[in-house]
Amino acid sequence: MKCPVCKDQVMSSKPLEANLSAHACGQCSGKWIASFQYWKWKDISGKSLLSSCAGSEDSLPVEDRTQAKLCPECGHFLRRFPVGEGLGFGLDHCGNCGGTWFDANEWESLKSRGLHDDVHKIFSEVWQNRIRSEEHAAAIETFYKEKFGEEGYRKAKDLKAWIDTHPNNVELRAFLGL
Ligand SMILES: [Zn+2]
Ligand SMILES: [Zn+2]
Repeated sequence: MKCPVCKDQVMSSKPLEANLSAHACGQCSGKWIASFQYWKWKDISGKSLLSSCAGSEDSLPVEDRTQAKLCPECGHFLRRFPVGEGLGFGLDHCGNCGGTWFDANEWESLKSRGLHDDVHKIFSEVWQNRIRSEEHAAAIETFYKEKFGEEGYRKAKDLKAWIDTHPNNVELRAFLGL
């Protein structure tokens, strides 16, 4: 199996976790996890995974390679899925065979957040919609902070919350000319 990033580099089979085998590239340190390997590992490990997350917030340097890649297993284009959760990288996933590509340290970063055993959820519509609305909310906040300044934005937010929850908010809005 050849590396989807380094093209001609042949990857070697390598144990990633107990009961989880992956293909790793010696050149870019990327890893490929086949769908059946992932699910086999989830099956065998089961609930023990819940306690296995390190819980450390130390983020490892991830070199996210965003170029289009072909699936090393079946040749289909991999689709990129942003991870969210404050992690600034995306995973490349094959919709055909279900395999996933991790650039160097992406697996380790997910593991440090206890997300490595929830990788399949990242590819779901629910997860991706949530990320999009979080990004949208963050963009709106940035926009208003630039308009009003950090302090002004905080005051405006407090004022808005006060008006919204006031028992006479209809009259309050009328009084303020809103
Ligand atoms: Zn490589
Ligand atoms: Zn594939």
